[in-house]
Amino acid sequence: MNKDIATPIRTKEIMKKYGFSFKKSLGQNFLIDPNILQNIVGHADLTKEHGAIEIGPGIGALTEHLARASKKVVAFEIDHRLLQILDDTLSPYDNIKILHQDVLKADVERVMAEEFTDVKDVMVVANLPYYVTTPIILKLLMEDLPIKGLVVMLQKEVADRIAAKPGTKSYGSLSIAIQYYTEAATVMIVPKTVFMPQPNVDSAVIKLVKRDKPPVELISEDFFFTVTRSSFAQRRKTILNNLTSQLPDGKEKKEDILRALEQAGIEPSRRGESLSIPEFAALANALYPYFS
Ligand code: SAM
Repeated sequence: MNKDIATPIRTKEIMKKYGFSFKKSLGQNFLIDPNILQNIVGHADLTKEHGAIEIGPGIGALTEHLARASKKVVAFEIDHRLLQILDDTLSPYDNIKILHQDVLKADVERVMAEEFTDVKDVMVVANLPYYVTTPIILKLLMEDLPIKGLVVMLQKEVADRIAAKPGTKSYGSLSIAIQYYTEAATVMIVPKTVFMPQPNVDSAVIKLVKRDKPPVELISEDFFFTVTRSSFAQRRKTILNNLTSQLPDGKEKKEDILRALEQAGIEPSRRGESLSIPEFAALANALYPYFS
């Protein structure tokens, strides 16, 4: 087996050889611990029949572990300075395709159709750039791509919000959006010391497994997300106050909102953070006729 990229010594060697300096604005905190990488890849349950998508390969630390564990890796990297480095560090592997693209602008569906013609399932596995973790995850889920799920490193605080259950401080519209599409769990807490440079915040790895079908029946997905976002607009306000102030013409439609709350069996004095996804679904479906 080839020598790991992700050791402090080798990472420093590579940086020096290419005169590479980290760009904070691109969320460049590289992993320098092969054991952590091994554990992350372990959570993705890859086999030589699986494909893997990586966002932000950096100098290839995680990419090479994915190449060893899967049939093919496709990685999106925004920083052109890393392309030549990756060409060099990943030269021992023939099952990696690096695309110089901003993943937020990429046509991931088309890339998948072109690159993964003969794989069983595809997992997204990444140490995400922390300045755009939420937009990346939401894009990959909302585009309904043919992926099995995601195993991604991100800020622990965001991981907590994604996996949060009702009635907790971290529970909010992000928890609901992600748990609507996936079964979400935090699988690792990661210390700052395994990064170069070390980030300011603690990190965690979450595993998101896409659901075969949504956990609730909705008249309109868009309206469901409008209702959940509105309900958390001001966390200390009651659900009634948030809905009247946030929904279009909410103040004039207060009576309709009260009727919908009653129909959904939800006390108007409750706060958004106490409502489960099925309760939000019942509420959104009851409100929909008044706002469509
Ligand atoms: N995978 C490497 C590792 O674990 O050591 C690097 C991870 S680093 C946290 C994030 C990487 O994402 C960097 O290489 C950065 O250049 C890249 N990146 C940042 N924004 C991106 C975007 N919008 N699309 C694709 N890659 C991006």
